[in-house]
Amino acid sequence: MQTDSTILELRQAVNAVNLELLTKLNERAALVAQIGARQTELSMAHFDPKRESEMLELLVSANAGPFSQGTVKQLFKEIFKASLDLEEKQDKPKLKYSRKAHPENTTVTVVRGDISVTFGGAHKVLIAGPCSIESAEQMDATAAFVKSQGVTLMRGGAYKPRTSPYGFQGLGVAGLEIGSSAARKHGLLFVAEVMDTRDVEIAAQHADMLQVGTRNAQNFALLKAVGQAGKPVLLKRGMSSTIEEWLLTAEYILAEGNDRIVLCERGIRTFEKWTRNTLDLSAVAVAKLETHLPVIVDVTHAAGRTDILTPLAKAALAVGADGVHIEVHPDPATALSDNQQQLDFSAFERFIADMGNVWG
Ligand code: PEP
Ligand code: MN
Repeated sequence: MQTDSTILELRQAVNAVNLELLTKLNERAALVAQIGARQTELSMAHFDPKRESEMLELLVSANAGPFSQGTVKQLFKEIFKASLDLEEKQDKPKLKYSRKAHPENTTVTVVRGDISVTFGGAHKVLIAGPCSIESAEQMDATAAFVKSQGVTLMRGGAYKPRTSPYGFQGLGVAGLEIGSSAARKHGLLFVAEVMDTRDVEIAAQHADMLQVGTRNAQNFALLKAVGQAGKPVLLKRGMSSTIEEWLLTAEYILAEGNDRIVLCERGIRTFEKWTRNTLDLSAVAVAKLETHLPVIVDVTHAAGRTDILTPLAKAALAVGADGVHIEVHPDPATALSDNQQQLDFSAFERFIADMGNVWG
């Protein structure tokens, strides 16, 4: 195809302008990057809407066309957006959760005396136990059973985050005592949720690992307190948290000097009703890529039902999870919380058999 010589000439002029624009855009980006770095040093936000509108006003008043004011605004808004992205991107390696800051996997060991379990190492870890700690008998039976099934880390809630204030709220300190003595008696480690900064100290005295639940995932005071408690933390993803928000909750704990964090995907809220939550396995894969922390999957709270736990657990491990969290109760039908979704002992035995020899 023959091209008109005038067009060819003009196109060459456009090419030259493109290159000039490129140089200018990168000159601008380098300046923005310096501003961004200084803002980070001063703990200032990068986005400043006032500054953006001032810049737009200046541009609009200087605009002689032929681009319309609207087009000029649109073009520069894109440039501003790209600049903000650049500022945020250059912060990322500084985030302690980031694999850029710490390329190797972090392993998290939960230990008491000569009992220990390690997340993020060669072996997959299974956490199992009842939703709520209800009685010494229930915990003794559960501890003996899960131990017989090869579990090392038992769960049990003493403080229960219930949707209704009239639901069973947990036994509190008495529950912590019951849980830790059952764990000690049967040679198990014990993980328990803590919901209130005021309970962190006592919970840390009884539990070998502290859990932050989905409803407290962005309780920043609590995150700071568990960051200071000197115990490994099982950190659930908020049910409406983006992956980035979830990882930033880990950052709160890391910022306190505690890197013993196990991230736990437990399903997010979606329109779907046939499962209690929607298990977001993409988040597990992304978290494994973006962070150096171990990631596990709570299949029980994700599913909210007992009949799909084996395939979900298999999928979790296939996607790179370092372990699985599951609820088991001696008599789920009478459980004081989550009685629809806890496995009974024989279903748990089937789960163990179906999963095969995958646990460490
Ligand atoms: C729990 O593990 O006891 C619990 C309440 O889970 P989540 O915070 O994920 O709902
Ligand atoms: Mn539960």
